Parts: sequence; structure tokens; C-alpha cells
Amino acid sequence: MEEVCERFLRYIAFDTASDENSHSIPSTKSQLAFGKTLVRELLELGLKQCTQDKNGYVMATLPANIKGKIPVIGLIAHLDTSSECSGCNIRPHLIKNYPGGDILLNDELGIYLLEAEFPELKKYYGQDLITTDGTTLLGADDKAGIAEIVTAMAYLLKHPEIEHGPIRLAFTPDEEIGRGCDHFNLEKFGADFAYTIDGGELGQLETENFNAATATFTIHGKSVHPGTAKNKMINSVLVALELIDMFPANEIPAKTEGYEGFFHLINITGTVEQTVLKYIIRDHDLEIFERRKGFAESCAGQINRKYNAELVKLEIKDTYYNMKEILEQHPHVPALAEQAMRDMKIEPLKVPIRGGTDGARLSFMGLPTPNLFTGGHNFHGRYEFIPVQSMQKAVETIVRICELA
Ligand SMILES: [Zn+2]
Repeated sequence: MEEVCERFLRYIAFDTASDENSHSIPSTKSQLAFGKTLVRELLELGLKQCTQDKNGYVMATLPANIKGKIPVIGLIAHLDTSSECSGCNIRPHLIKNYPGGDILLNDELGIYLLEAEFPELKKYYGQDLITTDGTTLLGADDKAGIAEIVTAMAYLLKHPEIEHGPIRLAFTPDEEIGRGCDHFNLEKFGADFAYTIDGGELGQLETENFNAATATFTIHGKSVHPGTAKNKMINSVLVALELIDMFPANEIPAKTEGYEGFFHLINITGTVEQTVLKYIIRDHDLEIFERRKGFAESCAGQINRKYNAELVKLEIKDTYYNMKEILEQHPHVPALAEQAMRDMKIEPLKVPIRGGTDGARLSFMGLPTPNLFTGGHNFHGRYEFIPVQSMQKAVETIVRICELA
């Protein structure tokens, strides 16, 4: 238990925020530096084929300790942390034997983790929690995943009596900015199937995520001096408002949950002459997803008919798809994780992801990859925390998966 905790605390001292405005690969140098120390640690532990490629992907192998044809399991976590909240100079608090109630994160700034606001705290009475000091994120997303995978490998190396096949590790850069798979060398990785260790609370097993697209409306207006504009001017900002109004008011992120999809307006820039609206479209159901894209097209068409001109141009791009479609063809992959959890007395918690994961993209690239819990809560912000006991359970689950395959 101390081992996974010690590793985690060591890893979060690296500030590895990715940067979506950067065009370098990986987007930030700090990810390379962190990856380099991981390679050294993996070598020292006795793992084989420990490499870091020029794009920052770290890979390593734990060779099989039995003969026979056993599938190669992949274990994946990401090196970067979200840039939504600072990850610089993280000062974690370890609260041993949490007695319940509100947690004071920062005395000076008066920042609390309130039990009323975060009722999930109730599940962890008597456990050891790692929190932030209220000024940064914690980085459990996804350094907990890395710490858990490495600790599981160390355990297997120390316990050769546990038989397992070949295991491949990959630690990837830039997951938080959607580039985690851009340069993932699947051939070099060579796994038959894999798990990302990048989920939330204890027991999470994620096999479904959104289908996702972006829709960009470019609206062309006609600018004329406002003093002589009668029957001539077309103000593209006002046309944009008409367009926005056509979208269903209740199908937005703030009013949906579970399997409900949405249209989400993420950006507007505009002048009289030209306005650009950026939407993201999300739905778990492929058919409804296609219908949503069709709806966006029909809105553009309606405006163009009304003004009898090609004012609105729409560009729709798919970004990722629901991995359920692929995992249904490989039911043994999530089933193995489920069995491992049950063997460790963990109740699997299957929730549809309202977002995407690297595993979704990997699944469509040919590597079936569901997502498993790290144990963390409230990712990407200062209220992030993780119970040490959940991290330990994640280590045990990973060990058991390797044993069962
Ligand atoms: Zn993550």
C-alpha cells in the first residue's frame, strides 16, 4: 500500500500539463522529462524493452513467466495532466484515517472540500485520502494510473509464483488535448487487447463512450453603412442568433445526463460581415448521433432558404466513436476485468462515459481497450482527491487481470 502511494506522490511532483496551443510533439517538454525518469525506474525494476520514442511514448514489457500461447495484455495510462487547473508545485495532503466531515484544504485561502458538496466522501470514512492544498489539481488523472500499473508490475516481479503471459505497458503523452493516440505505434506495442487505467472511482469499468463530432457554421453577412442599410444589410451576428435559436433548448450539457446526448455551443466569434459558431455534438447512440448531425445540416439549409442565399456554410467533422461497437465483438476483454474485480471483492460499476477516452480511439484502430478505475475523484480541479485504499485495489485488480488472462 505504501508503495503505490509513494510512487504516486513522487510522480505528481512533475508538472506535466499538456498545452493545446503547442504544435510540438509532445506538446510540452516536461512530459518527456517525466517519461525519461519512468524508463529508468522500469529498467531498475527489471522490466524489458523499456523505451521512450521521440514523440514521448514510453513502452516496456514484463515477459511471460509461463510457456504457451497466452494473449499479450496492454496496460495504458497517460503522462500529461489537464491544463484547466495548475499542476505546478502540487502540495498534497495525506489525511490518514479520514474521520468524516469537511476537509480544510487551505487555511490561508479558506478552501474546503465540503461533504455536502461532495457526498462521495461518505464512502471513505476511515480510509487514507490524498487531497490538494486547494491551489492546484492533484494529478491523479492520470498519475494514479501510472503508479498503479508500475506497482502491479513490481508486485508480479516479486511474486514469480503468480503465472502470467506477456504484458506490455504504454504511457502516452497529450491525452488531455486529444492527441494521445496520434503517434501511438500499435505494431510496436503488439498487444492483443488492452486497458487504459484512467477512470474515476473504485470499480469503474467503462466500455461505452460518446460518438463525437464538431460542427462549424460560418455565416456570411453583408456589411453596409448603417445609415443607408435599409433592405441591404445582413448582419451575420443576428443570423447566428436565429440559428442558435433553432437548436433544442434542453439538449445541452447542463440539462442532460446518462445516455442523453447534446448539442454544445462552445465558441462564437462574429462581426456584421462574418460570424463563426462552433458546436460539439455528442450521443452514445450512433443512429441518434447521425440524426443530430442531420439536424445541424437542416438548420443551415433552413436559413439559406429563408434568405434565399448561401449565407451559411456548415462543416461537420467526426472526432471519435463509441467503443461499445468494437468491444461487443470482443466481450472477453471487459469480462476479464469484471471477473478480476469480483475476485478482489470489488463491485464493477459500469457507467457510460460522457466524453471520450484514448481507449475509444485505440479500439477503432484495432486494439480493444476498455477503461478501468484509478480510484480518483473530481479530476481537473482543486477538489481532486484519491483514497489510497482505492489505488491499492486498482493494483490488485491489475495483478489479477494479468493472472487470469
Ligand atoms: Zn485521464
